[in-house]
Amino acid sequence: MSHQMPESTGAKAHSARMYDYYLGGKTNYGPDRRVAGQTMAVFPNVLTAARENREFMHRAVRHLAREQRIRQFLDIGTGIPSAPNLHQVAQREDPTCRVVYADNDPIVLTYARALMNGTPEGATDYIEADVRDPKRILGHARDTLDFAQPVALSLVALLHFLGDGDDPQGIVRTLVDALAPGSALVLSHGTDELDVTLRKVVEIYGSQGITVQLRGAEDVRAFFTGAGLSLVEPGIVATCDWRPELADSQDGMRRPPGSISPEEVGCWAAVGLKP
Ligand code: SAH
Repeated sequence: MSHQMPESTGAKAHSARMYDYYLGGKTNYGPDRRVAGQTMAVFPNVLTAARENREFMHRAVRHLAREQRIRQFLDIGTGIPSAPNLHQVAQREDPTCRVVYADNDPIVLTYARALMNGTPEGATDYIEADVRDPKRILGHARDTLDFAQPVALSLVALLHFLGDGDDPQGIVRTLVDALAPGSALVLSHGTDELDVTLRKVVEIYGSQGITVQLRGAEDVRAFFTGAGLSLVEPGIVATCDWRPELADSQDGMRRPPGSISPEEVGCWAAVGLKP
């Protein structure tokens, strides 16, 4: 893979590529690394925070596939592929799992082939779409997913890129309303309630034209209650504290359980079910 910056990416830093950099990926360029460096200078834990966010997603998917028997996943705000991706975690539990990915960043589309290497028994698909157009995402997802059966909707580290003016609560409600009973919502969200330093990160992203809106645990709860969902145990906790026992060495887990503290991860996490 060439690490030259493609013309189309411009000279601006981008959130998906900065996140890739925090995770140790190679799909990032000078401007991304420069602004990521500024972020690391004010919030050195951002590398831990990114990794813990990713590992929360792995554990939540494992819980939903293993304990809730969900076999279909709709992942919006997928990010640049970083193994294991959601379909790999789900299809390890059951190769028949069907996964639809969506992201609005063209760079993610460029790498989407790595998201479509799923099992022959299951299915994986990718759509380039904006979560602010939930009906369009649902329309496309119906090609691959059966909405008469439960679907796990994953909005991991996505909603803090929506300002209140985008009506994220309404978007979540529209998406969840389309799902059958037994469906689930997985969510993580940046907050300043664990470490106020995150406010400085918001400023750095803002200087690049990237909107970040931190929210509190009660806002996170409202995403679930507003869509008629009930939280599964342990409720809303820091990403590192959500069911750590579901970690799997195949995810590349690099820390002993309990060695990360909530202020290091700066993100709330929760999973809810639709009755
Ligand atoms: N969910 C992944 C990646 C999180 S990074 C994980 O947690 O590991 C956030 C991703 O959301 C980026 O890839 C970014 O391109 C995408 N994103 C941001 N705003 C979006 C929007 N309005 N619609 C769809 N995707 C969006």
